[in-house]
Amino acid sequence: MFNLFGSPPSYRSSVLERLVETNPAFTLQFSKESVDEFAAALLKEYPKPFDFFLQATGKKSTPEDDKIRETLNASFPAGVAVQALLLSMSAAGMARFYGAEIDRLKTTNVGAAFALACALAEYLNACNVPPATCDAGYRRHLSAFLTLRHSMQAFGLLGPWEQRIAAIEADSAKTNPNFAVPKIDAESADLLKIFVPKSEQAVLGRVFQQPDAIKTTVGVFNFVPGVLDTMYLGMVLSMPQLFMTRQWSGHPPALYSNGMCTFCGAKAPCRPCENQLVQIALMSQPGAAGPSHRGPASTGAAQMLINAGIDPFRK
Ligand SMILES: [Zn+2]
Repeated sequence: MFNLFGSPPSYRSSVLERLVETNPAFTLQFSKESVDEFAAALLKEYPKPFDFFLQATGKKSTPEDDKIRETLNASFPAGVAVQALLLSMSAAGMARFYGAEIDRLKTTNVGAAFALACALAEYLNACNVPPATCDAGYRRHLSAFLTLRHSMQAFGLLGPWEQRIAAIEADSAKTNPNFAVPKIDAESADLLKIFVPKSEQAVLGRVFQQPDAIKTTVGVFNFVPGVLDTMYLGMVLSMPQLFMTRQWSGHPPALYSNGMCTFCGAKAPCRPCENQLVQIALMSQPGAAGPSHRGPASTGAAQMLINAGIDPFRK
């Protein structure tokens, strides 16, 4: 079996690690100002958030008193903002933790390592929004948190995150009992999902299908020892952009940006990365014939080359 990447792939010093470490979510701040900004953005999108919550969940306990309703509508956004901000910041830290898990898992369960790397790539895809336009985290970062949480649950890897939150809860019970420790259970996640910006709702629905697609890939390749570890894990670690869904708005992943290769940082044109992309673009799904059956990574590689003015299918 040929190996595109020479040595066994490692998360440490990979492009994926670089993206995890430079995640825009690390610029999020938990302050009164950011909570207010987040809440204001939410209120603009959902002017009567408490009413909307009741409507979305089909809950009946509608207070008859208009005054109480008004108060609840007014206080709801800040409550959501506090939870969402803390969880988005927690997600950035957990991405670091899960990244380190890839190197530990790749020797015992390469399928899980591959799935984890794909999930991180998609989480970072969602986080990729300029800090100036993210409304203190309301745009994209709330969705990014939900994306990571959904993937980790789908892959049975939510445990460490739950333990981390439980530890914070136990800690703050001693020092600051009034502190609202965020919850990461399914009910809390469903509540937060209701308030994701309208423009992101449909995207999130499609992105939530990614874990199943990854499971299928893992299922197909696990029967062929050596394929996943040397090739596919290497591919997602060194070219994570190829494994991101093209669902989020903004610039699609490009081969070159500002005259630099977005994979290795070398000056354009970068022949090694171009050649790797060509090889990936020419790969097809096992058992399928012809370029019409290329997988998402191959399709992404071909698109990236074509956008850079290179025809991957030239003879
Ligand atoms: Zn390069």
